[in-house]
Amino acid sequence: MALEIVDYFDLDLDIVDDLSNALYIYKELYSDCYNKRKKITEKEFKALSKKMYKECTRKGVQKNENNNEAIVLNIVRLRHQRAQLLGYENHAQYVLEERMAKSPATVFDFSQNILDKALPAAKAEMETLKTYGKEQLGLDRLEKWDGSFVGEKLRQATFNFEEEVLKPYLPLQACVKGMFEIAHKLYGLNFSEVNDIPVYHKEVSTYKVYDQKGAFVSYFYTDFHPRPGKRGGAWMTSFRSQYKKDGQDYRPQIAIVCNFSSPTSKTPALLTFQELTTLFHEFGHALHGMLANTTYPSLSGTSVSWDFVELPSQIMENWCYEKEALSLFAKHYKDQSLIPMELVQKIKDQATFLEGMATLRQLSFGLLDMAWHSSSPDEIKDVVAFENEAFKGTDLYPSVAESCMSTAFSHIFQGGYAAGYYSYKWAEVLDADAFEKFKEAGIFNSKVAADFKEFILSKGGSEDPMVLYKKFRGSEPKPEALLKRAGLLN
Ligand SMILES: [Zn+2]
Repeated sequence: MALEIVDYFDLDLDIVDDLSNALYIYKELYSDCYNKRKKITEKEFKALSKKMYKECTRKGVQKNENNNEAIVLNIVRLRHQRAQLLGYENHAQYVLEERMAKSPATVFDFSQNILDKALPAAKAEMETLKTYGKEQLGLDRLEKWDGSFVGEKLRQATFNFEEEVLKPYLPLQACVKGMFEIAHKLYGLNFSEVNDIPVYHKEVSTYKVYDQKGAFVSYFYTDFHPRPGKRGGAWMTSFRSQYKKDGQDYRPQIAIVCNFSSPTSKTPALLTFQELTTLFHEFGHALHGMLANTTYPSLSGTSVSWDFVELPSQIMENWCYEKEALSLFAKHYKDQSLIPMELVQKIKDQATFLEGMATLRQLSFGLLDMAWHSSSPDEIKDVVAFENEAFKGTDLYPSVAESCMSTAFSHIFQGGYAAGYYSYKWAEVLDADAFEKFKEAGIFNSKVAADFKEFILSKGGSEDPMVLYKKFRGSEPKPEALLKRAGLLN
């Protein structure tokens, strides 16, 4: 991020169009200050984070012309009306009928179940943060805007580890080769780089993908580095979905696009560990697209239920933490020495650091979303009061006056996540539970991989996702594997 600290001070928050954007900048500010890229005293930093927090969280709830409270109530009322016109009790029921979860009751039970496990851990973590904040940073009271800062300080003190040390072991080209090898071991795929396919930019690489019998499976495009005009982030896309017509199987054209640092004159492109998991994540979506075997393009590949689509992508991330997988490719670009597994272990340990609180936060957003979309709007009089009620039981910090999430909760009031926010956690449960089957049999077990390909990757949205999942797993998804992975279950 090229913003100087002065830009943060001068930032006109009205130009930040939604809360997630504001929080993103807020996070960048934090990370810049933690990493001491910006010169700022601790006192200035504390004052600034309080200011940023307060400004970010009162968007749309201030008594001015940008107040969103009436709009929120109106959206909720209209959605409810539509649901009732169509014969549903409420908007959540209307939406969830076509999701894997099927009903609001399932989502509430699912959330409560995980909440019960996460709450004791979160409370204990909160006490640790308070003590650390008091003893090490002189904070008498831990406020919402202190949480990330104190957490980060504690993380540094606990782990004494910078992720940067892993980068030399993760040259992009080797990681991509390793990823192809893993797809070969699991699904028998062979990737052959070709130069005769038209591309939209010279940095795009192209592959033809074949199965073990030599039959053509898919075209595959990769576009890895940032350049002017290219959107940030990482995603998978299909230029053409797989489909069948008049006896012919039209194979798909699948791409993944990322924004990994480019190589320099001295070093190859090197990934952070987080970027490695991003690469595998997008590749998981790509496999869903490439291995599709359905009749209709509208049901092909990733055209599945909202709460099912992240299973193929998130499950791939698990291979990044396994020695058997890493030893295929994660070697120092200078001397080819293997990535030290104790460093990978530190990454794993860090991933579950303060996980109770993180889980609580994630669940609280899902519960707020469900509250808005499964209540009768006639009974909702006040946006802030309604939100506070929904957050009850998940909020461990002292409350902050004049703050509201709902009035800037663009996921559910602007984006497509209404009655769908739970799907983030839902997908984690799926991927952890599904990967457990690989772990039990061996992460390259060919029978488990064949089943995953047959029941999950090839079917797209042509069958009910729960039916497909049960065919693969033998039972409905259970949260235990996720809770274990998150360190919330002993
Ligand atoms: Zn994804």
